Amino acid sequence: MEKKTYSPLACDVEFFERELESFVPDRVYDAHAHFHHPDFCPSALSTAPATAGYEEYQECIGWLLPRRNVAALFLAYADIEGKNAQANEWTAAQIARDPLCRGEYFAGPQDDPEFVRQEVKRLKLHGLKVYHSLATTTPTWEANIPDYFPERLAKVAHEEQWVVTLHMVKHRAVADPDNLHWIRHYCRTYPGMKLILAHSARGFQPAHNLEGLAELKGLENLYFDMSANSEAMAHLAILRYFGPQKLLYGSDAILAGCARGRCVAVADSFLWLHDTMPIWNSARHKALSPVLVGLEDLRSLKWACWAAKLKDSDVEDIFWNNAARLLRLQVCVSA
Ligand SMILES: [Zn+2]
Repeated sequence: MEKKTYSPLACDVEFFERELESFVPDRVYDAHAHFHHPDFCPSALSTAPATAGYEEYQECIGWLLPRRNVAALFLAYADIEGKNAQANEWTAAQIARDPLCRGEYFAGPQDDPEFVRQEVKRLKLHGLKVYHSLATTTPTWEANIPDYFPERLAKVAHEEQWVVTLHMVKHRAVADPDNLHWIRHYCRTYPGMKLILAHSARGFQPAHNLEGLAELKGLENLYFDMSANSEAMAHLAILRYFGPQKLLYGSDAILAGCARGRCVAVADSFLWLHDTMPIWNSARHKALSPVLVGLEDLRSLKWACWAAKLKDSDVEDIFWNNAARLLRLQVCVSA
């Protein structure tokens, strides 16, 4: 039986050479990365290592971004109940190994804001990761933003000038009036907080971005990471409405560096095509070899940059300078 390996395939290497080698700058800041650990965040993939810390991340990101210098903002996450503290401690220990790396504290709606403030400082982290899985709403996929990111945490993020990464939910994402209301309210009321809408505003269906993003124009403290999103139009909508200084590259590694396939916009929604689905031999013209999700995402970003007629310096902003400014890397490095 073929051994499941944690490594890229020839199709991944060829894809990068053909599609991405001339597009991706030498220096990359990955604004959306994760670790895995069997005690608090087991990997859902047999192709990923059971325990994935800083070293495994560097190996994995080398398949999506070969020969590039990469630093990252890691988003702590636990999907085992009661293990948030462990996830946060582990994240802090991993990022301490690289002075250019940053980390977000995984905060829940029940957390005391003063405790969160102290813990983020004690662990030398730089902001918050919030996620619907901790909401008490049923189903959590339809949770309102305050159900998993209560206003008292936004207030602390504002006071401490933190970044917050928000993977919004609800079927129509940024086209949903409740999501729009809360993003506007939080950004205007808490200007010290830097809010990053993950996955290009979770615009896996770009029609939602085209419909909703115009309503968020002018919010100075609003940013986007394009991680795990393979729909070029989702990124292009951000570039058209907000310009290239508000979009950040994000890999969603380790998962997006070990899984093959991509998300595809369909009707008013989207679905994920994984390499385990029995669809890859159904094309009559050719047997298909799906590449790593993170490579598809990078190509979709390239297409969006081309369509928006970006300059090389704009692309360098997306891949490094925007994150460096947001995370105040220069200040921290020279201090
Ligand atoms: Zn993620």
